[in-house]
Amino acid sequence: MLNQSVQYIKGIGPKRAEMLSRLGIKTIHDALSYFPREYEDRKVPLKIALASAGKKAIILAKVELSEQIQLGKNLSAFKACLSDGSGIIFAVFFRKSSPYYKHDIFSSLKRDFVKGKKVLVYGQVEINFGKKEINAEEYEPVADETKLGELIHFNRIVPVYPLTEGISQKWFREFMYHAVDSSRHDWPEPCPESIKKAMNFKNAKETLMSIHFPKELSDIEPARKRLAFDEFLLLETALAIVKERNNKNFKERKYPVKKSLLTPFREKLGFEFTASQKKVINEIFSDMQKTTPMNRLLMGDVGSGKTVVALSAVLLAIENGYQAVFLAPTEILAEQHFLTVNNMLKGLNINTALLTGRANRAKKEKRSIKEDLSLGRTNLIIGTHALIEEDVKFKDLGLIVIDEQHRFGVMQRAEIHIKSKNPDVLVMTATPIPRTLALTLYGDLDISVIDELPPGRQPVKTMHLKDFQSYNLVKDEIKKGHQAYIVYPLIEESDKIELKAAVKEADYLSKTVFQDYKVGLLHGQMPAGIKDKIMLDFRDKKYDILISTTVIEVGIDVANATVMVIEHAERFGLATLHQLRGRVGRGKDKSFCFLIGEPKSEDSIRRINVLVNNASGFAIAEEDLSLRGPGEFFGTMQHGLPPFKAGKIVYDAPVIEQAKDAAQKIIKEDPGLINHENLVLRIEMLSLYKDKFALSNIG
Ligand code: ADP
Ligand code: MG
Repeated sequence: MLNQSVQYIKGIGPKRAEMLSRLGIKTIHDALSYFPREYEDRKVPLKIALASAGKKAIILAKVELSEQIQLGKNLSAFKACLSDGSGIIFAVFFRKSSPYYKHDIFSSLKRDFVKGKKVLVYGQVEINFGKKEINAEEYEPVADETKLGELIHFNRIVPVYPLTEGISQKWFREFMYHAVDSSRHDWPEPCPESIKKAMNFKNAKETLMSIHFPKELSDIEPARKRLAFDEFLLLETALAIVKERNNKNFKERKYPVKKSLLTPFREKLGFEFTASQKKVINEIFSDMQKTTPMNRLLMGDVGSGKTVVALSAVLLAIENGYQAVFLAPTEILAEQHFLTVNNMLKGLNINTALLTGRANRAKKEKRSIKEDLSLGRTNLIIGTHALIEEDVKFKDLGLIVIDEQHRFGVMQRAEIHIKSKNPDVLVMTATPIPRTLALTLYGDLDISVIDELPPGRQPVKTMHLKDFQSYNLVKDEIKKGHQAYIVYPLIEESDKIELKAAVKEADYLSKTVFQDYKVGLLHGQMPAGIKDKIMLDFRDKKYDILISTTVIEVGIDVANATVMVIEHAERFGLATLHQLRGRVGRGKDKSFCFLIGEPKSEDSIRRINVLVNNASGFAIAEEDLSLRGPGEFFGTMQHGLPPFKAGKIVYDAPVIEQAKDAAQKIIKEDPGLINHENLVLRIEMLSLYKDKFALSNIG
């Protein structure tokens, strides 16, 4: 059985099992789904005469003679002269040696490289003092040339696995060969027979051999896709069930558009909605007016104006007598939203409240906020996920807005539903995702996209500078009446040492370079009241510069701020940098983003260049993708889902579509997955997604 320990495989004892567990391989199933990193074509030996320097080759030849050479105090070599009729080559094996070693480090080589015997050798060919050498990586004695077809490491395409130190390819390959050979027949296949037949699919278990020990290179990709289909089918089935469940829920709320709040709100804004915003608001309103609950994902780049769209939905709910929740990913963002929202709703006679762990330290205050909520006195509550966890009750919660979904696990999305019967849910994200991918990962949601920025926005000029250069440019902007952020982004808000260093640096800057300017300091460990005051003061231009040591990357909104200086930019991922940059360029004035730092790794240099050369989040995500496969953007996106082993979410859009169609068909015919042919699907799907999507009640 695949759930058994690898110790059930021939030759694996407790010690080796421990070694394998370092690769995350504990069960036989883990082993079978540990896929090769690449492959080497070792099918055809090369004639020695044709072997050329600098290339890897396989040589099948006869041993002529061999010798052992001491190269240094701790290094020895074993050299064997081989011939195959076309020429001669010297196979060289290097080994660490020591006069204190008791065993003969070359004993097995001496046994196998005996004059007249045949061997296969794999390695890099070199020319040394005019002689051909092969720097042997692997070899295999050939006892019987008619049985070449039975070899594991030669005469075939061999897999190369991602391994750690202490585990050799040869040993691991042999282990995998036995594991796959003996256990692949137990591989669970979630895909029901009828779908397999309709799609003309092979058995997934057969394709396991093609991934690990393919006959042809061209067998590999179809095999991977076949296994990927099954992986995606599990997710899509879970999503289809969630969607089906949502569609069966009826809400009693009615949403006639009264405009008693919406019209004054719109008039007070001071700008027109963009065409994109209007389209999206329409989609949201028509969802809310349906009898089934809304489950919609709103995607829009940083600064595209998602907040006012969400507020429009909030007002529609409040107009009709329902309560609304606005969830932010961090406390500081919740606080910031609270400020801007109150500002926008001024004069509309709406009761708002803020509830976060830090904002309401006093028990009494918390209690009264909760009381107001449960009695329906509060129309809109803004807070963090703490809102979900606490014993918060609503009188009549109609709408839930979740900002920056990528920060939340899928889990929380399921949990918040418990607070009300069939609430409408609007999830917002600035993480750009190609549409097909969004459909995979949020397949239970409908999708809206804001694909334009408000008029007059100019791309933020982004430069990689030395700190003093950027400080001078900051001063130029302040002289024009603008404001600046200087950010020392902390990797962890709780990292005390980093915080101290950042506070010190900020203090130093305010006393030296910027001593003639009004400098505010903001960090996450400050009490909420003080943070609010500093942010309000910054908005009211009481500071020229806001030095922030905290995570302000999403949400802060001060249009007069035109400079974002990011210190230690090399330490941060593309998504974070893009979000930080999004804090400027929010008004009509030309804005700047200065990246300071000394990137050393290739990766950090690349990240900075990508940011300098690209303005839109979608372009950055694509760069990220084309340069090294799914990077940070897609990493955050996958948050909350199990990693796909065969599936590559970024490249497999067509496979995902297929799996999605199949899943919908299956769920339509068998919503509870009780048919016999769907049994494996049911078991495997529940084991992965039961908790994530609160699926305990299926069937
Ligand atoms: P995000 O999508 O990043 O959450 P916000 O909702 O914070 O963006 O909006 C960014 C800024 O643009 C805010 O200052 C907001 O008031 C402003 N804004 C939003 N919509 C428009 C519009 N149609 N015209 C002009 N400014 C707008
Ligand atoms: Mg926002």
